[in-house]
Amino acid sequence: AILLERVNKWFGSLHVLRDVNLSVAQGERVVVCGPSGSGKSTLIRCINRLEEHQEGRISVDGIELSDDLKALDAIRREVGMVFQSFNLFPHLTILENCTLAPIWVRKMPKKEAEALAMEYLTRVRIPEQAGKYPGQLSGGQQQRVAIARALCMQPKIMLFDEPTSALDPEMIKEVLDTMVMLADTGMTMICVTHEMGFARQVADRVVFMDRGEIVEQGEPEAIFSNPQTDRLKLFLSQIL
Ligand code: ATP
Ligand code: MG
Repeated sequence: AILLERVNKWFGSLHVLRDVNLSVAQGERVVVCGPSGSGKSTLIRCINRLEEHQEGRISVDGIELSDDLKALDAIRREVGMVFQSFNLFPHLTILENCTLAPIWVRKMPKKEAEALAMEYLTRVRIPEQAGKYPGQLSGGQQQRVAIARALCMQPKIMLFDEPTSALDPEMIKEVLDTMVMLADTGMTMICVTHEMGFARQVADRVVFMDRGEIVEQGEPEAIFSNPQTDRLKLFLSQIL
């Protein structure tokens, strides 16, 4: 469903994505890992055009990313994203955070959007928080709201960029559990994370990036137990 072909990106003179080839099939779960600054965030941000690549091709469900606004709009409707910082609107309630885009972007009737939001808030196990404001919730709860909010747009693909790295340890599990639940529904997912337990549990494939390149990829077991390159060996020795 997602296809990257020889994607290159520079920030000024800094070459941050180097000939990246990646294909992710529908229903596939891919975990991306690698050292800080290796281009993981840039890679997934290019998929929904939060960043623009300069060379190569990216397509989502056959729609090629280009300057065509219609194509971009179509892709953004299919792709949900969850960030390290939850990015909730602080002046809106949890329910309003979840219904905003469905009402304004999808033109969904308010009642329908609210019903849908409650369904997803129930699925992430915080329906009782619907009337509160983000500042009244714990980090883990806020991140689950961010996941529910993305799901309310009914995306076909979910991108996660280190969704647990800003959380206290006791809250990491509840967010990972939510992501496992989502994986169990068959959602196509690309997750940047260093949570190797999560990777082992749900990833069909682990992609290791270093200095803008995909250095190795494979099933979690192969990547973690039998790394081929010194770069991956070094990385694993630092995080495990
Ligand atoms: P981390 O694990 O720390 O999140 P990352 O693998 O996600 O790192 P990126 O954020 O993709 O790495 O950054 C890749 C490189 O691009 C880094 O050298 C970073 O400093 C640089 N970079 C990222 N965003 C920008 C930007 N907006 N302008 C200039 N350089 C940037
Ligand atoms: Mg990053």
